[in-house]
Amino acid sequence: MEGGHKKQEARWFGCEELRDITQITENNQQLDEFFGGQIKIIVGNGKRIWFWHDAWLSSRSLKTEFPKLFSLSTENEETLHQISMKKSLSREWQLQFRKNLLAWEDEELQRLCGLLVVSPILRVGLQDSCSWASERSGQFTISSVRRWWDTTTGQGVAVPPRVWVNLAPPKMHFFYWLAWQCSVKTSTFLQRIGVLGVSVNKLCVFCHIVEESVEHVLLHCPLVWKCWSRMVYWWGQAWAIPSSVAGLLHWWFGGKLKSWIGKVWQIIPSVVFWSVWKLRNECLFKGAQPNIYDLCEKIKVQIALWSKWLLKVDYSVHDIVSNLHQIRIAV
Ligand SMILES: [Zn+2]
Repeated sequence: MEGGHKKQEARWFGCEELRDITQITENNQQLDEFFGGQIKIIVGNGKRIWFWHDAWLSSRSLKTEFPKLFSLSTENEETLHQISMKKSLSREWQLQFRKNLLAWEDEELQRLCGLLVVSPILRVGLQDSCSWASERSGQFTISSVRRWWDTTTGQGVAVPPRVWVNLAPPKMHFFYWLAWQCSVKTSTFLQRIGVLGVSVNKLCVFCHIVEESVEHVLLHCPLVWKCWSRMVYWWGQAWAIPSSVAGLLHWWFGGKLKSWIGKVWQIIPSVVFWSVWKLRNECLFKGAQPNIYDLCEKIKVQIALWSKWLLKVDYSVHDIVSNLHQIRIAV
């Protein structure tokens, strides 16, 4: 497989969220291939398209289709526009290589030229663009990924529907879904698939006692458990910690809360998962010290800001963070 499509996706969609998502999907071959297959490049002036790296001519990039020629090319980092400008007067492609090609390499080149004959004509005034094949609108959506996952794995029926009717931004939403699928790249997971060696420390960065599994780092670690408990307490609820992420979500979405309060309640798990994971990465990669108080305050403020922004709630951020219980009684 090509070394991940994330470069291409992030650049084509110019989208921070997609980059985050593709970082999360790294090491998941199925997802990675799905992402690569959904991007359709629409050729304009060729200035944004990397001749060898982007899949502009077919569903595969030329470097994947012709690895030997790619390794010999002196134009590896050139755009379609740049290479196209070098065409001869008779409009033939003039690809350049580091050495004279052997007979079989030349055959490959003829095959490539055969494909290039039917390549799209560059359109000077038009920017290159792309569309997301899974959606009729051509726009990338998380729900298209979900549909694909459901069809591929047959797990659709078991997905709590409200995981998807959620107001969180796409990257958080997507992480939420991975958490539900237990597909988060924890140290234990990375070791299982061979990315981390067996000797690498895979203890949880918060407690340094237990191996870092999805359930532990997002739910059962004492620090994380405290965070969940504070969220539940913030809402004036009582709970017993569920044994799995799926169990947590079933419990979370089990009750009915009226008006905007219910919608805000639904946002909480995705914000907690995302914030805990962010903190985990800061501790692991930047040596940050976990602080439960800060973590909970950040989560509450984030949720309050969204409530105001998405749901046009009249209460101030301070009121939502500090006096939620009274607000709930008043609503
Ligand atoms: Zn822990």
